[in-house]
Amino acid sequence: MTSSVLIIYTGGTIGMKQDPEDGTLKPFDFSQIKEEVPELSKYDVRIDSYTFSPLIDSSDVQPSLWVDLAKLIESKYDEYDGFVILHGTDTMAYSASALSFMLEGLTKPIIFTGSQLPIGVPRTDGKENLISSVEIAAEKDEKGHARVPEVCIFFDSKLFRGNRSTKYSAEAFDAFNSPNCPPLAEAGIRIRYNTDVILKPTSWVSTLRIYTHLDTRVSILKIHPGITPVVARPFLCAPEIRACIIETYGSGNALSSEWFLDLIREADHMGKILLNVTQCKSGTVNMDLYATGTTLKHAGVLSGGDITTEAALGKLFALMGRSDNNQWVKTALAHPICGETSE
Ligand code: ASP
Repeated sequence: MTSSVLIIYTGGTIGMKQDPEDGTLKPFDFSQIKEEVPELSKYDVRIDSYTFSPLIDSSDVQPSLWVDLAKLIESKYDEYDGFVILHGTDTMAYSASALSFMLEGLTKPIIFTGSQLPIGVPRTDGKENLISSVEIAAEKDEKGHARVPEVCIFFDSKLFRGNRSTKYSAEAFDAFNSPNCPPLAEAGIRIRYNTDVILKPTSWVSTLRIYTHLDTRVSILKIHPGITPVVARPFLCAPEIRACIIETYGSGNALSSEWFLDLIREADHMGKILLNVTQCKSGTVNMDLYATGTTLKHAGVLSGGDITTEAALGKLFALMGRSDNNQWVKTALAHPICGETSE
C-alpha cells in the first residue's frame, strides 16, 4: 500500500530560492515541492505539504510553535504514515526535543530536517536531506509498522534521536551530532537502520496523546570562572523561576564557594527544581565523583545524567506543564521518558 507523508514547512534556510529578478532569497511555494525536487516523484509515496504562516527564521521559535506543531500532527495523525518538519537549523534541536516530550504514544516518524544552503541554490544540502527524510518517514518494516516511530533529526546522511541532538557547526553540512547516542540510521547507498537503538512504542495501537500546556518558568545558569552572587542569584532564586538548569563543568562540578552553595540551598528551600547538566558535549553528570559535585547533590541539585541542555529545557517545560507539584516533576525528571538519557 502506498505510504503517505505530510511535509510541514515552518521556515528556515531550506525553503529558500533565488528570486530570478533581484537575486534575493525568498521562501518558495511548498505546494510545488515535486517541481522543485522532482526526485520525490520517484517514490511510491503520497506527499502533501502544509506551510506555516508566517514562515520564520528559527531563531524566532517560541513554544507556541511547538504547540501548533503538536496540534497539527494530532489532527493529521490518522491521515499520514509519517511527518517531515522543515525547520531552521538554529533551534531545531530545541524543537525536536520539546516535541518528543509533548507527543506520547507515538507510533509514527516525525523527522525534522533543514539545510545549510537553500534548496534553490546549486550545491544545496537541502535536497538530499529532504529526500532521505521523506523516505525514512514513509518506511515500514515487514509487519507494516513504522521503521522509526520517534521524533528525529535527519541531517547530512545521519538520523539522530531529536532529544539527543545538538547543532554543533554553523558552517559544515554535518551540522548536527548526538554525542551520547549513536545515529538511529545512516544513509549510504541504502539507508541502514540501527534497530537496536530505535525505540518501539509499548503498543502499536496506542492513541497519540499530546501535551500542549508548557510551563516555561525555567532559567539556564552557565557556571563560569568569575561568576558572582549578583549574576547567579536571579537564575536560582527569582520568584518567577520554577526550575533552573545549572550548566556545570565536566562531570557535574561547580565552584565550591560558600556564597554559591548558600544560593543553591536557598533555592532548594524555596522548592525550586535544580537540574545539573554538563557543559561538555559528551559524557555524563556524576555528582559522586568529586567533592564539588557531591556538595551540589547534598544541597538539593538533581543529576541530569547525559541529557543535553535542549532536551532538559523541553522536558522541564512539558513536565512542569503537566503538574504544579514540584516533587512530582523532580521524581519524573529522574527517569528517561523517550530515550533522552542513557539508563
Ligand atoms: N537562521 C536560520 C534558521 O535557523 C538558519 C537555518 O535555517 O539553518 O532558521
